[in-house]
Amino acid sequence: MQRNRRKYRYFLTRLETQKPKGLAAMVKKADKEVWAETDCLACANCCKTMTPTFTTADIKRISAHLKMTPDDFRDKWLYKERSTGDWMNRKQPCQFLDKKTNKCSIYAVRPADCAGFPHHTKKDFTEWVHVYKQNVEYCPATYRLVEKMYNQLSA
Ligand code: SF4
Ligand code: SF4
Repeated sequence: MQRNRRKYRYFLTRLETQKPKGLAAMVKKADKEVWAETDCLACANCCKTMTPTFTTADIKRISAHLKMTPDDFRDKWLYKERSTGDWMNRKQPCQFLDKKTNKCSIYAVRPADCAGFPHHTKKDFTEWVHVYKQNVEYCPATYRLVEKMYNQLSA
């Protein structure tokens, strides 16, 4: 598995410089297959090991849902990342993860970053390669996506 991850990271780097024809359609098809095979409730690895980025709109929406002020919400759970200025979770697993069920306790108002994760069908796949390179390590869905693309393009 670890060797494959390394292989897939090299493959992703190659995709950045040698973009194959029909890449967007290939990603779309592979992504659909991946979600038919992946059960996020049996995993929740993203909620356990990573932090989403909380936008101002996320903070406003979630704090209102929790009947808190945005400032109190930030003080209680978030920190500001120095290099980017992004608001992130202080702790992992995420405080909103129900560890028994692997469900998000604020699912309806969760951060946009969580709702879009693992961002497979972003408009230009190659611009997000740095994210997928990290996520082949932690996200089984991204691992499967890259595996499918590798098998198809190496056949
Ligand atoms: S890490 Fe990937 S497969 Fe696991 S719960 Fe998150 S999105 Fe789903
Ligand atoms: S807010 Fe919800 S979906 Fe996002 S990391 Fe926390 S538990 Fe997971």
